[in-house]
Amino acid sequence: QAKTQERGGFRFFSAELNRAAHERAMLETDLRAALGAGGGLQLHYQPQVASTDGLLQGVEALLRWNHPTLGAVPPLRLVALAEECGLIRQLGQWVLDRACREMAGWRRRGVRVPHVAVNLSASNFLDTALPEFIGQLLERHGLAPVDLTVEMTEGVMLNPDPLVLATVQAVHALGVQVSLDDFGTGYSSLSHLHRLPIRELKLDKSFVQDIEHDEMARALTVSVLRIGKSLGMTVVAEGVETEAQRHFVAGEGCPVMQGYLISRPVPADELEAWIEERSAAAEPLPA
Ligand code: C2E
Ligand code: MG
Ligand code: MG
Ligand code: MG
Repeated sequence: QAKTQERGGFRFFSAELNRAAHERAMLETDLRAALGAGGGLQLHYQPQVASTDGLLQGVEALLRWNHPTLGAVPPLRLVALAEECGLIRQLGQWVLDRACREMAGWRRRGVRVPHVAVNLSASNFLDTALPEFIGQLLERHGLAPVDLTVEMTEGVMLNPDPLVLATVQAVHALGVQVSLDDFGTGYSSLSHLHRLPIRELKLDKSFVQDIEHDEMARALTVSVLRIGKSLGMTVVAEGVETEAQRHFVAGEGCPVMQGYLISRPVPADELEAWIEERSAAAEPLPA
């Protein structure tokens, strides 16, 4: 009897594996198509505003993939998939190109978006051709280097490859700002902070979300703000969802914030409408 159960278990397991393998193969094919002419990939944009007057400081581009049968594929899953099947370079280039194209469109139409921030993965920074790609892209779209920011997660600095450091330096040398994302969740970066040309720290949303009920989260938030200030960096609080969180980070002198309280990430046309609406109302957030 044990044997039957085992075989049944094996059959179930192998059916599961089969399904997962099948789904993965399908995703790979569809991602290749989406990166080509197939479409289906999109960027949504989340506003980043000044804590003092609510003025738009920039937007962060966030990847969206609405798969025809699976629905929304989370961006981190998409990035992991692209890493696995050797498409991460193409994905990074796709995101950079789309963000710059949309930024150039806003410029043409007089929509005031100070800069667009793009997330890149660790392997994108291993690509020594990245700085040249970015330089050409900016030229092609008629953008200035300050129009673009690249975000790298703090984890990249955990064990920084010399290639990564060189690429970050070269991107910075173009005049493009580098921002350290999810700051506070890594373990190593304090010792690397002064070696990298980083202009901005993004306080991870896990701290922001605990501000109201966790003394430690408040203390860490204050520390990150102090580090940023003493190193001459901008700090962006991410994941601000409540008035109390906004009040705390603003009160502690955090210059910029983003989060659902201000706006969810939205498609380019909705962002444009959001900006127009706010400038028409000219109603900055209360201090
Ligand atoms: P991230 O760069 O730290 O982006 C912030 C995440 O928090 C986004 O999740 C955003 O939608 C979400 N968020 C924003 N405001 C709030 C809030 O008030 N509350 C909560 N709970 N969440 C908020 P999303 O879009 O699912 O992206 C997840 C992660 O995927 C990003 O984290 C980033 O690391 C990665 N990612 C997104 N787009 C790209 C991309 O184009 N390339 C690469 N390599 N990674 C990307
Ligand atoms: Mg980010
Ligand atoms: Mg982040
Ligand atoms: Mg994060």
